[in-house]
Amino acid sequence: MSELERIIQDKITADGPMSVAVFMTLALSHPEYGYYVSRDPFGVDGDFTTAPEISQMFGEMIGAWICDTAINQIDADRFNFFELGPGRGTLMSDALRVAKNVPGFLESSALHLLEMSPVLREKQKQALGEYSPVWHGDLSSVPSDKPLIILANEFLDALPVRHLVWRGEAWRERLIDVKDGAFVWVETADVAEDVLAAVPPVPVAPKEGDILEVSPERLCFMRDLFGLLKKARGVALFIDYGYARPAYGESLQALYKHAFCGVFEHVGDADLTAHVDFAGLQDLVQAEGLECFGVVPQGAFLKRLGIDMRAATLKKAGTPEQARDVEKALHRLTDSGEMGELFKVMGFGYGTDGRFAGF
Ligand code: SAH
Repeated sequence: MSELERIIQDKITADGPMSVAVFMTLALSHPEYGYYVSRDPFGVDGDFTTAPEISQMFGEMIGAWICDTAINQIDADRFNFFELGPGRGTLMSDALRVAKNVPGFLESSALHLLEMSPVLREKQKQALGEYSPVWHGDLSSVPSDKPLIILANEFLDALPVRHLVWRGEAWRERLIDVKDGAFVWVETADVAEDVLAAVPPVPVAPKEGDILEVSPERLCFMRDLFGLLKKARGVALFIDYGYARPAYGESLQALYKHAFCGVFEHVGDADLTAHVDFAGLQDLVQAEGLECFGVVPQGAFLKRLGIDMRAATLKKAGTPEQARDVEKALHRLTDSGEMGELFKVMGFGYGTDGRFAGF
């Protein structure tokens, strides 16, 4: 049993069954043994690979989007770039390399990063040191004195979800208990108001035993982010795997060394994520009075921004082997059987005129 598993089991024994959200938070961000706190999880030696780690083309396309947006849509010449959960800093580094081509754009701008992991902050310092980034542990210290350009790739999927189960005529919450030294699922009829308030309008009625994943924690986080964006003005791109229409079913998954495992296995050593409900977020963007540019599949977004042209240029400039790698990366990022359809891009802003490349 891992040290973290023992800590969580002791907590359940002392306090009673635990929500999926608390379990996920401890597994990912326990100050000593949390998954993100204690390692660099990316690449072949890690547990998973993200889009910016697959190819420089991903960050370059986003860099082009930033330039187009900042120059054509926002009436300002100074910006605060802000990335949430930057991992190794690869996405921002590739994007800012493109943005450097616009004279004066970066000189008057600043870079802010939201990151909880000391290991990853160190990696980000190596990748982005030339831009003198300022790190934040939460949103409260992020400045709103200049328009914000916000990026987040695979950040929201790490924020905790809860599980509801339909029993009889009502939702119960599915919790985690301990029995004979192992984690087991239990249910409670005592469901908090804010959890029930996060239930999305699924078009079909639930059947006995249907599970619904909700995340008041994500909604609360995004409400705070919208508040910041309304003060500062600016735009945001959120990219993640998720669904564009609410549905029943659970998507909580654990990933360990590039393979799925049970959510109770390798606790603290496996990544835990859940798909993002983009329909719910889109409703929230509109309800909060921001401009939503849309939610589009990653493949379509990258193609509209010209990734095929960029790939052709890179292929021409490289060796035959490099050209094959570029082709493979292009396929992974954009094909509907790979990341092209499952991953979605959501764009929104405040104080813009709402017409954006890629949507
Ligand atoms: N965007 C990067 C990394 C994605 S992994 C990429 O595409 O490669 C998720 C990132 O979010 C990691 O950097 C992780 O440490 C960070 N993270 C997860 N939950 C967080 C939280 N609650 N607060 C701050 N950072 C968090």
